Amino acid sequence: MRDSLLLAAVKRVALWRFQADLAVHRALRRSRGERPWKLGGDCRRCASCCEAPAIAVGALNWSWAPLRRLFLWWQRRVNGFLLEREEEEGFSFVFRCTHFDRGTRSCDSYASRPGMCRDYPRLLLWQPNPELLPLCGYRARPPNADGLKAALSRLPLTPEQREKLRRGLRLDG
Ligand code: SF4
Ligand code: SF4
Repeated sequence: MRDSLLLAAVKRVALWRFQADLAVHRALRRSRGERPWKLGGDCRRCASCCEAPAIAVGALNWSWAPLRRLFLWWQRRVNGFLLEREEEEGFSFVFRCTHFDRGTRSCDSYASRPGMCRDYPRLLLWQPNPELLPLCGYRARPPNADGLKAALSRLPLTPEQREKLRRGLRLDG
């Protein structure tokens, strides 16, 4: 069901908070020398990322019942995410989004979608080996992709070997 004006306003405030948290969290990781993979490609609007939105939470959120209930209530009441299953490994909740129309593969409240929908797949770029959804038009490229490409171009390789290495190292996209 489409968000009401009131719900859209609440989600706008939550979005600001989400973006501020994200900026601080990622700045901290960068200050520790961590570098995300680079984002290549484009959004093809396939809507695969709307089919089963998943959120990984911290240990406290996962195991402390009141916090867990509050989290799931917020997801259901505010974001329209209904719990489908839990994945113990990685402390993840997997949802069904009530805003997603499977027929038209569109979001009925796109303008007020949550921050995690806007951010996908950037969060994955901080993983050691990002695995994006198979139909996603975005690609993850190594942080040092340009250096690797330059190094490859200097190696005495056949075009086939070069191409194989480019694919293996995920330098395209
Ligand atoms: S809120 Fe919209 S963008 Fe986010 S998962 Fe649901 S349908 Fe997709
Ligand atoms: S899965 Fe990727 S390409 Fe498809 S809608 Fe989501 S971000 Fe866009």
